[in-house]
Amino acid sequence: RLITAQRASNQEEALERALRPKRLADYVGQQKIREQLEIFIEAARKRGEALDHVLLFGPPGLGKTTLAHIVAAEMGVNLRQTSGPVLERAGDLAALLTNLEPHDVLFIDEIHRLSPVVEEILYPALEDFQIDIMIGEGPAARSVKLDLPPFTLVGATTRAGMLTNPLRDRFGIVSRLEFYTSDELAYIVGRSSRLLNVEIDDTGAFEIARRARGTPRIANRLLRRVRDYAEVRADGRISSAVADAALTMLDVDHLGLDLMDRKLLGAMLEKFGGGPVGLDNLAAAIGESSDTIEDVLEPYLIQQGYLQRTPRGRMATASIWHHFGLVPPGTEL
Ligand code: ADP
Repeated sequence: RLITAQRASNQEEALERALRPKRLADYVGQQKIREQLEIFIEAARKRGEALDHVLLFGPPGLGKTTLAHIVAAEMGVNLRQTSGPVLERAGDLAALLTNLEPHDVLFIDEIHRLSPVVEEILYPALEDFQIDIMIGEGPAARSVKLDLPPFTLVGATTRAGMLTNPLRDRFGIVSRLEFYTSDELAYIVGRSSRLLNVEIDDTGAFEIARRARGTPRIANRLLRRVRDYAEVRADGRISSAVADAALTMLDVDHLGLDLMDRKLLGAMLEKFGGGPVGLDNLAAAIGESSDTIEDVLEPYLIQQGYLQRTPRGRMATASIWHHFGLVPPGTEL
């Protein structure tokens, strides 16, 4: 899926690293978080302390990993990166923690997927910079307390609601990332174009931006595909006409909805009369997991007002009936 906000391949990851802003001043948008972090980072540095633990939540591709790297760079420390599902055993986390240097950043992606035993280790580590580890086995086993250097945990999750309360409570800074405006994304597309040596004018950048589902990762991905199109079918320059033709070929429509979005919304309208329909029924109807719908597809559709979450299930809004050229039920003709 072209437009999916999840990372697609190693090659894409390498490109993303190259496009990633390195300092807070280069991080576009998310004004509130940026302002807060600027103050908290400066204060921590002045006091010579580690920054408080930071929880970042929001849909994939909005810049959580980027921000974790920026926090480490601004603090002038190392970043160690891991993810919830990778940390299977308590010892995996203990090994990471005991190798940290003072004030380092430990970045745990998908932190809502930590196993309970690993989470147990994390609590005292976050609160008192200490861990209890078991040495030996059977009757000879004993628990040893180890001191850790003060460090900063940056946790990222697509769903804050799936974090346990005790874990959530241990973050001093909790920030929700918002979808980006088209202007912000156009700025990001312009910056990426310069880094990739792509010729693009303002209208071309804006056309890509407004069809990128509010998401920098998708904007950068569309830019690369539009560049291919421009090189083969045009003179290499990206204008709004070239961007429009390329995106239409890629099945990204004028609202920025792709095939998966339209499949989801189409199923809602055609199979469920616009809803309300339960998440699991919807997932079965389009052959996607309900997690993907909840984490990746629906946040943007809800933010744009195409879909509503009600206590009885998901509902399509009038604007999406119209987008599909249909008349919402109960509307006078
Ligand atoms: P997440 O961790 O939330 O899934 P990432 O931090 O990996 O998202 O961001 C994906 C890509 O989008 C990055 O490689 C970067 O190039 C771009 N990006 C994200 N946020 C910004 C931003 N605020 N300004 C510029 N580029 C951004």
